[in-house]
Amino acid sequence: MAAVAHRIATSLPLLKDEPGPNAERFDLESRLATLAPTLDLEAEIQRLRKERNAVILAHYYQEGEIQDLADHLGDSLQLAQAARKTTADVIVFCGVHFMAETAKILNPDRIVVVPDMDAGCSLADGCKGSDLAAWKASHPQHAVVSYINCTAEVKALSDVIVTSSNAEKIVRGFEPGRPLLFAPDRNLGAWLVKKTGREMTLWQGACVVHEQFSEKAIVQLREKWERTAGSVEILAHPECEAPILRHADFIGSTTALLNRAKASSAKALIVATEPGILHQMKRARPDVTFLDVPSEDAACGCNNCPHMKRNTLEKLYLCLRDLKPRLEMDSELMNRARVPIERMLSLS
Ligand code: SF4
Repeated sequence: MAAVAHRIATSLPLLKDEPGPNAERFDLESRLATLAPTLDLEAEIQRLRKERNAVILAHYYQEGEIQDLADHLGDSLQLAQAARKTTADVIVFCGVHFMAETAKILNPDRIVVVPDMDAGCSLADGCKGSDLAAWKASHPQHAVVSYINCTAEVKALSDVIVTSSNAEKIVRGFEPGRPLLFAPDRNLGAWLVKKTGREMTLWQGACVVHEQFSEKAIVQLREKWERTAGSVEILAHPECEAPILRHADFIGSTTALLNRAKASSAKALIVATEPGILHQMKRARPDVTFLDVPSEDAACGCNNCPHMKRNTLEKLYLCLRDLKPRLEMDSELMNRARVPIERMLSLS
């Protein structure tokens, strides 16, 4: 339990009179500014969670202090499964926008709140529904397989959704000869093509975090730790670029990487994904040295997802206290987007 110092983690300009997102940002910043620095945020979050009959879902890329408060901690698939099962009145989604949308689509009658509505995702932002619709129209024979990191509009246009946990199984399940479009992550798509031998036409999106890891840094880290620790393994998420994946001893989803870390006999593990996952890895294996991978510009700290890290304990407290920002979605869009999500869940 700690009285957490007051932190304001965002720096967008405050344009009080502008409608839309700026007004929402102003509202959040204003509420943050009124928080007493001595407030025991963790105790207040625990109290409000019970009072609201709320469930807190958190992704592995969240800060450790948020992970520690979660009712369900997981990757995209696990959180979608938890969202489908919950009976709570309020879902607090500590992750990014497309994940909260998935929770809302699976629970249209529940209140879904997020600590910061501006927590987006470069993959989702790089593939607009209108662009995907045009791509799909120019490939009328193709089935559309979309990574869960996409907007509800893209999901609604897809035949099935996949995560990095189940993508290989679902792609292998398509009838032979059926041409496939894969969106929006070209790196995950290319890795799936290599794994399954199944040709797919790929949307050219990428994650701003995973595409920036430095190959040179990985090679240097391995050389250094082989000399000092003796045994080293490189674990990588398939959102990484091919030159990074070539060096990996194990490639898998965030949960698969965590499980590999738990089972590995290596003395040092180099982990090429968002470093939020190291919180659970270190907890599970205090005997192992964990090393995150710097990005090409080592000074920028770009291996931390700027969207995931928008969420803070203060904002988590506020969204539970005030039940906002609240995710509202068009019901017809949710109905269409639910079909390929449910298809994925039934195949997982
Ligand atoms: S780490 Fe990449 S894929 Fe994940 S939420 Fe951040 S930008 Fe999106």
